[in-house]
Amino acid sequence: MRIALLILLLLAGLFLAMHLAGRQAERQALRDEAEQAREQLSLYAGSLRTLIDRFRALPAVLALDPEIRSILQGPVDNHLQHQLNLKLETMNRAAGSTTLELLDRDGLAVAASNWRSPTSYVGHNYGFRPYFSEARSHGSGRFYGVGVVSGIPGYFLASAVRGANDEFIGTLVVKLEFPELEQEWGQRPDIILVSDARGVVFIANHPGWRYRELKPISADDRREMAATRQYDKQPLAPLIHSTLQDFGEGSRLARVDGPGGRADFLWESLPLPSEGWTLHLLRTPQEAASSARTASLAAAGAWLALYFLGLFLHQRWRVARIRQRSREELEQLVEQRTAALRTAQDGLIQAAKLAALGQMSTALAHEINQPLTALQMHLASLRLMLANGQLEQAHKALGRHDELLQRMAALTGHLKTYARKTPGGLRECLELGGVVEKALQLLAPNLRDAQVAISQELSVPAWISGDAIRLEQVLVNLLRNALDAVADVPNPTLWISLRRENAHWLLEVADNGGGIGESALPQVFDPFFTTKPAGAGLGIGLAVSYAIVHELGGTLSAANQGAGAVFTLRLPVDKAREEQP
Ligand code: ADP
Repeated sequence: MRIALLILLLLAGLFLAMHLAGRQAERQALRDEAEQAREQLSLYAGSLRTLIDRFRALPAVLALDPEIRSILQGPVDNHLQHQLNLKLETMNRAAGSTTLELLDRDGLAVAASNWRSPTSYVGHNYGFRPYFSEARSHGSGRFYGVGVVSGIPGYFLASAVRGANDEFIGTLVVKLEFPELEQEWGQRPDIILVSDARGVVFIANHPGWRYRELKPISADDRREMAATRQYDKQPLAPLIHSTLQDFGEGSRLARVDGPGGRADFLWESLPLPSEGWTLHLLRTPQEAASSARTASLAAAGAWLALYFLGLFLHQRWRVARIRQRSREELEQLVEQRTAALRTAQDGLIQAAKLAALGQMSTALAHEINQPLTALQMHLASLRLMLANGQLEQAHKALGRHDELLQRMAALTGHLKTYARKTPGGLRECLELGGVVEKALQLLAPNLRDAQVAISQELSVPAWISGDAIRLEQVLVNLLRNALDAVADVPNPTLWISLRRENAHWLLEVADNGGGIGESALPQVFDPFFTTKPAGAGLGIGLAVSYAIVHELGGTLSAANQGAGAVFTLRLPVDKAREEQP
């Protein structure tokens, strides 16, 4: 459907562009050709006018000849006629006109330059010719007509001959024929016509075009033409023609039913006001068709180029749009997946928290239940002792109550440390050597009781950023575990070292307490993992310590070394503090 539409658009545009461009080019070419034809026509008009002008004054000049005037005043005998014939013959030869003739006051030809020829005018009366009557009434006359005697058409220029008292005594007539002109024009490919005021063609450079009526002739005109015998025995036939395009100023494209059949011509017309004639030039348009064809082809090319450029641009735009859309879709998909993952992660975290809570609750219930049950039993026996007055024993029993309560306090103490954990934690700039010292102080009574040797190797100051109380808690845990480990070994010893390794501070707590079992090693940081007898260990110290260290951006790891275990605490150096003076 789309393709059909595109093809339709292509074809419609192609047709329209070719048609419009062709027409426009054709019109322009016709105008150009018409312009050229018009220039040509004015040249022809010029040569015709020059030809006539050469003889225009001739009859008036000859009419002044005293001999002619004196002869015409009296009767003309044979001798005088012969004299006049010879004179006209000589003058005609000198002037270069076709014929010279002299008419008396009645229009009778008394002498003529062609007196020797069989078609001599002498003795014929031309009183019916308009040039005679015009000369008689106005002094001069002119007329184009076919010779009554000769049958040859020509232009007659007449002038009145006046007597001594200025009276009309005759007419001198010059006849001009245009055979050379027609012959010269005959070599031209164009059709050149001269029509009279009534629209009758009397000069034509191609046969078949002469004596054609260019427009309808009224009955009156026809009668007058018959009376003056203008075209005498020549039959006149109408020339059928119609205007296709009018360019104005006598220029048009016309369809003509000429002697050679129907054809289109550029038809130029130029009036010759002095004679009352009109000169015509008919030319077959040559360049119009070819320039129209060229312009059509050029327009087709331009249209196709434009069309395909349009298609190309449209395609590009579409591809860009599709790309844009798929990119947007991809982005949206990524966003959706990320959101889903985040939800899933949140869910997992939540599940893990719930699991940890469950685990913790079970352990806590177990851990707290034991001392509580024990306390209950001890309280019952205490009541019995008091009832029996066994004060000494009761006093001893109370000591065990203390132990149990301490145990529960330790448990909650651990949990409190863990609960301190706030998102982001507390961060302060502190010195690790100080933290070690503080932890040792806290454990001083235990260390003294156990008679443990302590070896310290601290490179201070070791600036880190963290939370002092929680880090002390970590160290206390590590030291207490080490103490527990060396409880039953000879020469119990602890090694504490602090040293720098690139951008980290490494704090090691080592002992000679026998180390961690291979199977226990991966589990020591798990919550509630303990190898100590029930009631002695909670299995929560290392887990809490591990969490605290991680939160401070450090690591805590366990390994066996020598006769015991070594715990390594690794924390990033506080660069900001270090750079201070
Ligand atoms: P608890 O001390 O209550 O058992 P901890 O989480 O602190 O809980 O320790 C977990 C376990 O790791 C201990 O039960 C013990 O088996 C092992 N452990 C910790 N420190 C040492 C050490 N210095 N030497 C040997 N074993 C250790």
